[in-house]
Amino acid sequence: MFHKKTLSSFDGSTPPKRSGLRSDPIKLLVILLATIMIVEILVMVALSQFDMAHGMFVWLGLDLPDYQHIAFEAVIDGLLLTLIVFPVLYVTVFKDITDKNKLLADSEARLEERVEDRTRALDQTVNRLKRRQNESSALNETIHKFQFCETTDAVFRVIQDQLSELFPSLSGNLLLVDDEDVLPTEYYCWGEMKVFQEEELLDLYREKTPKGSRLSGETQASPTDPLTSEKSAGNWRICLPLHTRTKSMGLLALQASFDPTGNEFGDDVDHRGHFWGSLAESLAMSISNLRLREDLSQQALRDSLTGLYNRRYLTDFIDREIQKLERAPGSFGVLMIDIDHFKTYNDTYGHAGGDAVLMTLGAMLNSWVRRGDIITRNGGEEFVAILTGVDERAAMQRAEDLRLRIQALNIAHEGRDLGLVTVSIGVAVYPEHGVDRDELIHAADSAMYASKQAGRNRVSLAEATVTGAAEAFDIPGQRKAG
Ligand code: GH3
Ligand code: MG
Ligand code: MG
Repeated sequence: MFHKKTLSSFDGSTPPKRSGLRSDPIKLLVILLATIMIVEILVMVALSQFDMAHGMFVWLGLDLPDYQHIAFEAVIDGLLLTLIVFPVLYVTVFKDITDKNKLLADSEARLEERVEDRTRALDQTVNRLKRRQNESSALNETIHKFQFCETTDAVFRVIQDQLSELFPSLSGNLLLVDDEDVLPTEYYCWGEMKVFQEEELLDLYREKTPKGSRLSGETQASPTDPLTSEKSAGNWRICLPLHTRTKSMGLLALQASFDPTGNEFGDDVDHRGHFWGSLAESLAMSISNLRLREDLSQQALRDSLTGLYNRRYLTDFIDREIQKLERAPGSFGVLMIDIDHFKTYNDTYGHAGGDAVLMTLGAMLNSWVRRGDIITRNGGEEFVAILTGVDERAAMQRAEDLRLRIQALNIAHEGRDLGLVTVSIGVAVYPEHGVDRDELIHAADSAMYASKQAGRNRVSLAEATVTGAAEAFDIPGQRKAG
């Protein structure tokens, strides 16, 4: 039996052997008879000296023949002596043995009880260790999977899948927040219980992660410290902050119901601090990496002076737009926009003055384009606008509108008015003026040069179709007419 084995292995001794007396009454009987016989023999031997029975026969008035008399005397003396000797023997020897046996049996029962207790405790420890091992490998797997996530959606799916598999009764919320203006960027939830509503979670984030502490890595709680942790009858909830040393990015809230008498989730719930801490830490790290990657790729696609998209983004955008229109026919316009006599601004106000013109124009262009359209800085003082879903006529109208708005701009630098800024615009339309990116840009570029040739500050349609008012061009520094 398992218990017996554990007994010897626990105490380093073999289990005690039982005496046969208690378990074998025949032995007791044999010893009793042997005692009687020994006493009988002793009585026979000592008969001549101790004639104890004789007085009794006389008292009873028995008159027996001599041989019977002697025999009876012997038997009665023997029995009387046995009655005296056996209790003494019993009290001194057998009683002692029986008591010892009883004690032995009691201590054996207690030992077995202890062994059972220890075995139960050992089973629980083994189960807990197994669970922790599972959790530890699930954590490693989760961290490994994070590395392959390209989006926060993918990160959330990994968390959801891994935790649902490990703790089926668990529900969770993940709130990601933009650290600068503390606005939620993403909110996810899974499981049967909604741990927190988005607003509640955001309030908790604002309350527990005030601006000062968010910006200073030193004042932040360790990533392993939960913001809140509650355990009431049958319900457990934890809210973990997501932050790296210097950046805070949101909260992970988890909730589970459990049987307080101990089920696979409940009895171990307090001992998982390290697990939740590591999970939150690696989750924060992977989200921070994603954001960093996003920033870098944005930087690769943005012009640093104006913040507008760059030429690389433009080429990808035109290719995607053409692909779309191959499936569902339509058109779009390309506007090539070049500042007239830009060099003069540099020469008159310095490079910084020229930069001010570029920045102001960039901001104006960015606010002018509609949703779904883009504006890019192609380099130098040249910009390109892609107007989606427009035909030739609409593209020309929009270009003319832009020309007039730019002409109306007031640009100042260091308190000085930089005067009139005008642009020459070339318009090309897909598919009329080109069916691929190079053809379209070339057509728009040629149309823009046609505008320059025609006197600047005007709009030309590709293939030298010139429209727009030819207005007098004011040189920089001069006040605008009117
Ligand atoms: P046009 O009307 O024919 O377009 O004449 P333009 O002076 O605008 O064109 P040109 O190509 O002769 O000169 C463009 C100038 O733009 C030359 C260059 O030094 C200046 N430039 C290019 N990039 C920047 C920039 O980022 N900042 C500033 N301040 N100037 C720039
Ligand atoms: Mg120019
Ligand atoms: Mg130019």
